[in-house]
Amino acid sequence: MLIVMEHGATQGEIARVVETIEELGYEARPMPGAQRTAVGLVGNDGRVDSSRIAALTGVKEIIHVTQPYKQVSREWKEEPTIVRLSGGLAIGGDEVVAMAGPCSVESEEQILETAHLVREAGASILRGGAYKPRSSPYSFQGLGVTGLKLLAKARDESGLLVVTEVLDTDSVDVVAEYADVIQIGARNMQNFSLLKRAGRTNKPVLLKRGIAATVTELLLSAEYLLAEGNPNVILCERGIRSFDTLTRNVFDITSIPLVHSLSHLPIIADPSHGTGRRDKVTPMARAAVAAGADGVIIEVHPRPDRALSDGDQSLYPDQFTELMGQIRTIAEAIGRRVAKPLPVPVRA
Ligand code: PEP
Ligand code: MN
Repeated sequence: MLIVMEHGATQGEIARVVETIEELGYEARPMPGAQRTAVGLVGNDGRVDSSRIAALTGVKEIIHVTQPYKQVSREWKEEPTIVRLSGGLAIGGDEVVAMAGPCSVESEEQILETAHLVREAGASILRGGAYKPRSSPYSFQGLGVTGLKLLAKARDESGLLVVTEVLDTDSVDVVAEYADVIQIGARNMQNFSLLKRAGRTNKPVLLKRGIAATVTELLLSAEYLLAEGNPNVILCERGIRSFDTLTRNVFDITSIPLVHSLSHLPIIADPSHGTGRRDKVTPMARAAVAAGADGVIIEVHPRPDRALSDGDQSLYPDQFTELMGQIRTIAEAIGRRVAKPLPVPVRA
């Protein structure tokens, strides 16, 4: 439930609303805005009797949030959330943000080379897993902390920000120390203890849609992050499991405008995992930007045939360069532009 205060409501009136919500046994989340203050009521699992709150002075309107998720809903917050990253890069505004890099960090040479190549093509965020969720325990599991340090080195050298996956609650702190954005992958979308733990950091979180998750389940998982106090959430469509074996997943482009209508959170697209096939990545990336995605995350490898994971869906650097040119044109056609990478740090 959302309690909208009159324009010019006093601090005392707002405080009385907060007190009343707490007396009723719920939690209050005051949200001061440019035009008016609203106070959110959370902690309820069903309809709340709002008569006591409605009777308080300074209360203009009470909005009952009809969705099972509250704080992530458009009813709760109408204006889009813009997730602000270091250096002024922002996700969810006018700019479309390109994230690119290998599936896994494999070596210093590989990640530095890829960082320079994708930056040259116009990406502003470097992706690369240091902790890998692999279907087989015998597959490459990632370099762990060594991989995180290599990503940090690549950031220092390239000026790209870094997004990388966190697999479990134990490594949230170390991943948050090195990353600009922490990724919660498809397999962990409903790992509720991990969501709660990530919700207690102040790092932006990239939350990927689960392999067989509905859009409502994705939004409910995002609600865990906001409920713990982290509003900096970026959603990601990465395809869902289907009966068709010709692609790895079905890339659900409809989820992009769907999420935009249901939620104020930004959503980006991952056509690499969404299709699993290199030759399908470019058309689906173009389609995602046309559908309004706030960014793309693309697997790029200097030598995909030698990649330790997901080589089949990784673009060659020149394919990524070509895609970036096309994305720029599409973004402009819908009144947006592709975010420019931050300046390369000057060395003493
Ligand atoms: C990844 O980004 O490399 C990854 C494992 O993604 P997902 O969780 O979407 O499968
Ligand atoms: Mn991958």
